[in-house]
Amino acid sequence: MKTLEKENYTYATDVQAYVQKVYDTVIQRNPHENEFHQAVKEVFDSLLPVLEKNPHYIKQAVLERIVEPERLISFRVPWVDDDGNVRVNRGFRVQFNSSLGPYKGGLRFHPSVNASIIKFLGFEQIFKNALTGQPIGGGKGGSDFDPKGKSDGEIMRFTQSFMSELSQYIGPDTDVPAGDIGVGAKEIGYMFGQYKKMRGGFEAGVLTGKGIGYGGSLARKEATGYGTVYFVEEMLKDNGFSFAGSTVVVSGSGNVSIYAMEKAIQLGAKVVACSDSSGYIYDKNGIDLLTVKRLKEVEGKRISHYVDEYPHALYVQGCSGIWSLPCDIALPCATQNEIDETAANTLVSNGVKAVGEGANMPSTLEAVHLFQHHGVLFAPAKAANAGGVSVSALEMAQNSARIAWTFEEVDAKLHDIMRNIYRESMQAAENYNAPGNLVAGANIAGFIKVAEATIAQGVI
Ligand code: NAP
Repeated sequence: MKTLEKENYTYATDVQAYVQKVYDTVIQRNPHENEFHQAVKEVFDSLLPVLEKNPHYIKQAVLERIVEPERLISFRVPWVDDDGNVRVNRGFRVQFNSSLGPYKGGLRFHPSVNASIIKFLGFEQIFKNALTGQPIGGGKGGSDFDPKGKSDGEIMRFTQSFMSELSQYIGPDTDVPAGDIGVGAKEIGYMFGQYKKMRGGFEAGVLTGKGIGYGGSLARKEATGYGTVYFVEEMLKDNGFSFAGSTVVVSGSGNVSIYAMEKAIQLGAKVVACSDSSGYIYDKNGIDLLTVKRLKEVEGKRISHYVDEYPHALYVQGCSGIWSLPCDIALPCATQNEIDETAANTLVSNGVKAVGEGANMPSTLEAVHLFQHHGVLFAPAKAANAGGVSVSALEMAQNSARIAWTFEEVDAKLHDIMRNIYRESMQAAENYNAPGNLVAGANIAGFIKVAEATIAQGVI
């Protein structure tokens, strides 16, 4: 059985025993859901000093309430493929916590999706959304449908069937989904159309990440990647470094990766590598981002095609090797647990100065401890990738007010939000005797907001 770790704090043994008991119950109630256990453990490890200082959180059973989703919906998604075969997938929506506002969180379409993945993502989302300072609760959803290799018609029929069921549970003031892995503007468009048809009205605020022409926000597409770099830049500045002149490795080549690369390059970094789930490319001269954008966003090709146009660049099959490339800054922007202890060790041996998580939980707990132990500056996902959901909340605000802000206005607000998240996380870490530890700081700052709202609203 996993045990909670003491880290660098001193705290009363009975608080530790209490937290361990709640954690054991989570494991017992959610057997085999390893990703969910991992996400809970990471948060609980940070909370011991908070509970010691605020025993009323224990009396009010805030931990017990926070780890139990308010609602977990699982549903059948039948659809017809291009050959006329009836196919069946499974859909999920976890409405985890609405203490701070309507449930908010993306939808992921990927064959690995199951209850554990959705719960880990939904749990993380509670604290991330709290950190943004926007009035949004935590949720997440998706399906084990694999969009890869599917025709446009198949994707449309699947998403329509998915939304036919999901539409019963969501709404602009109830639950507002967005995109995630495998769900981009196209899928959001199909889902919005189906929701509109089912409800018989144009409720723009029901989904975010919409096309600009029908209620989407400028800068939403860029928000997660840009936000991650804004956050990491604050962390670097505080420690006498900067993106300018740094060598950067970014995993993935999807939405988050592309815009993290774009902002890092704008700030003067040289991005030498990126990947997809088949392999990675290494271009010692610095990756030509326009080519990557065309290959991935327009032509929908694999990243390996980059070397057809840049023969001096290398393509290596298998994606984990990307972390063996020497770099100053590593930005994992692909998927969960992509940096394990071995990869973290290699990064440290190669002199990495900072790691910024654009993806959700891309580093294992062991990898995070290793980075912290070796003094690598570490920006955890919960804080560093909160830019996407922040601009989603700004999209909701624009929809409610029936106005549209310019790209520059949204980008400036995003930049402010990321700076605030950085400052609040640093302050919380300082207040609870973990100076400079952004993992602890982000968990604590997010948790306290949710705990206070939970208590204020009574036992419901
Ligand atoms: P996406 O557009 O679907 O891109 C995902 C990318 O990661 C693709 O290039 C994919 O390659 C690659 N990938 C998947 N598994 C991989 C692996 N094992 N190794 C290397 N590359 C792999 O998704 P996204 O929206 O950028 O999301 C990426 C991460 O950011 C996820 O953890 C997501 O939860 C998180 N996130 C996203 C947002 C957002 O606004 N989109 C906000 C916050 C957090 P293939 O094409 O080969 O699959």
